[in-house]
Amino acid sequence: MAVSELQCDMSCFANIRVSFVQYLDRKFLRNERDNVQVRRGVGRRVSQMSDVHNVIIIGSGPAGYTAGLYTARAMLEPLMFAGYMSGGQLMLTSDIENFPGYPEGIGGPEMMMQLREQAERFGLKVEDKNVESVDTTSRPFKVTVEGEDFFAHSLIVCTGAESIWLDAPGEAEQKGRGISTCATCDGAFFKEEEVLVIGGGDSACEEATFLTRFASKVTLVHRRDVFRASTIMYERAANHPKIEIKTFRQVKSWLSDEKGLTGAVLEDPRDGSTEEIAATGAFIAIGHKPITSFLGGQVETDENGYIIHKHHTMTSVDGVFAAGDVVDTRYKQAITAAGMGCQAAIDAEKWLEENVH
Ligand code: NAP
Repeated sequence: MAVSELQCDMSCFANIRVSFVQYLDRKFLRNERDNVQVRRGVGRRVSQMSDVHNVIIIGSGPAGYTAGLYTARAMLEPLMFAGYMSGGQLMLTSDIENFPGYPEGIGGPEMMMQLREQAERFGLKVEDKNVESVDTTSRPFKVTVEGEDFFAHSLIVCTGAESIWLDAPGEAEQKGRGISTCATCDGAFFKEEEVLVIGGGDSACEEATFLTRFASKVTLVHRRDVFRASTIMYERAANHPKIEIKTFRQVKSWLSDEKGLTGAVLEDPRDGSTEEIAATGAFIAIGHKPITSFLGGQVETDENGYIIHKHHTMTSVDGVFAAGDVVDTRYKQAITAAGMGCQAAIDAEKWLEENVH
């Protein structure tokens, strides 16, 4: 696809974002009306303790909305804190073509809006606010949001993971245009074009190999000559005729014109020498960071910060469940996140039946 077509796509994406913002405005007004019922405490607002929710869902990607749908249909009257940037990573994705049920594909924001509306139809209450902290040391659990405390018998954490960006000069302007962090989402926009992939791990090798389906040439750019990727993933990329690997190179800055990305300035970290490389697309694959800091270490994670499931979707804390990319070190797809959100909702419902109701 030519860059102009990509831009057309992104302007459609912009329209969807506008309507989503209008939708959130309406929701915000309704939420504000609801908040009037909250009793004010000294120095901070405290929800009435009698108002203990069955389940609070934290995060609002496909995992969160699916957990919301299932817990709402189970009559658990779930409350969701969706975050200021509700919808998660898919809000940054133009077209989703690999979610079953959408033969023509669907815009990421549009899908999130539909998932949300579907869950709300069954009673999910959504607040577009960020959770500051949780206290799982006693029950009911306490969830603090903008200085206000909420209480719940169970929690479902669906906060996802955010891609790590390089933040090289020129990057911000091309995000969601020529520069992406998701080859699965955006690779098809670069048919017969030359693209870069940055990174030396499994993600970079996998994305580079995946992109050969579309791109005429993929250059894998890595800052060292040692790859973190598993041998099989590295060799699959290294042996592919469409992939060139450039080691000891890092992006010094991105190059663009009025149509979009045109390439990058690469620097050799050993001696600071530079070279320019042409590309109309670039995929940054230098890792993800799960969003768990608000948990304050109360829920067990692996060495990379991903929440660990202890029993089905339950975490190390009884009554706290987790689903989606905040757990998933492997698949990281919208459909797998949605499936796990369903599992967490069913697990939470069963746990509440056995332990609370
Ligand atoms: P990763 O293994 O942490 O690799 C990140 C890569 O990005 C490293 O090569 C690192 O370089 C490079 N990097 C980090 N910061 C950089 C920067 N500022 N500038 C340039 N390069 C930078 O991350 P990942 O590839 O996303 O994998 C994460 C986990 O998911 C791994 O456990 C992986 O096995 C797993 N995974 C599995 C699959 C699969 O099995 N299908 C697919 C994808 C991921 P250095 O090496 O120099 O630090």
